[in-house]
Amino acid sequence: MSVFREGVVSQAPEATVTGGDLATFVAGLPKAELHVHHVGSASPRIVAELAARHPDSPVPKDPELLAEYFTFRDFAHFIEVYVSVVGLLQTPEDIRLLTYEVARDMARQRVRYAELTVTPYSFGLRGIADEAIVEAIEDARVGAERELGVVLRWCFDIPGELGLPAAEGTLRMALDQQPAGLVSFGLGGPEKGWPRALFKPYFDQAIAAGLHSVPHAGETTGPETVWDALTSLRAERIGHGTSSADDPELLAHLARTGVPLEVCPTSNVATGAVPSLTAHPLPAMVAAGVTVTINSDDPPMFGTDLNNEYLVAARLLGLDAAGVADLARNAVNASFLDAAGRARLLAEIDAHLASWVA
Ligand SMILES: [Zn+2]
Repeated sequence: MSVFREGVVSQAPEATVTGGDLATFVAGLPKAELHVHHVGSASPRIVAELAARHPDSPVPKDPELLAEYFTFRDFAHFIEVYVSVVGLLQTPEDIRLLTYEVARDMARQRVRYAELTVTPYSFGLRGIADEAIVEAIEDARVGAERELGVVLRWCFDIPGELGLPAAEGTLRMALDQQPAGLVSFGLGGPEKGWPRALFKPYFDQAIAAGLHSVPHAGETTGPETVWDALTSLRAERIGHGTSSADDPELLAHLARTGVPLEVCPTSNVATGAVPSLTAHPLPAMVAAGVTVTINSDDPPMFGTDLNNEYLVAARLLGLDAAGVADLARNAVNASFLDAAGRARLLAEIDAHLASWVA
């Protein structure tokens, strides 16, 4: 599997662009990502490394077959790939490797800061001890910052489809282990049949412990779920919130209160949340004054990456380099990075834009 191994990147590459197309600008733009899943970020390169460690797994070992396996076909296929990747994460070292290598893929796209959504409960179900899970991701986080120049923080999210035991387990892991990189508490899985309010007691405790509330809402259901997330779970950002665009009152509320949406355009088309990119409500959200951030969700599984999502957003919103830089600033300002870190990253964005304009 050495074909997938590439040299260690000691530092995020410096951008020195002075002209060219928007794709070049985006590729060199220092970025923050706020909605991206840990297991969902496993690229074919990473999966090949994991599969090599577990030759008994059903994941193809041949690079060409693996590339084909990873070609997004439909949502059912996405679930199949996702589940098979989860199946490869059998030891703490698998989790550490995945996490570190995800950061390497981020560094290549000049992602400088990411709040990675981790679902630790699913690792616990596989018999990995809570302490070992946290140690694995924390070890990767420290190494990624030092060696790759990527600052990682965690959002621990509840796999909603596993119900209240999963909520309890995720909360316990957050509160008992208190990983240094943990900043927020999330909720994923199906929305239909799982009202956000059901999880209120767990979010109340997480918030009381100092964690930020960032549930998924309004991706597969209507705007009422976004309201529910705001009122019951005291959401500070909304994961997706796609259907917010169906409710002008909600858009006005989001604009007034400054609660940002984590928008993932390609994912929304892939999962059927919106019928097509051209029908994506991103322009309506922006027109209503809502703060939007651009994200990639489960990038390799949806055949995208963060740079591509920025280009999609630029096309939908008719943005030039300065407009794209504003989107990047939105993500920094909506992040849970400390003030000094935010200021540093905003200055990097300013410098990149200035060098481009010059
Ligand atoms: Zn998501």
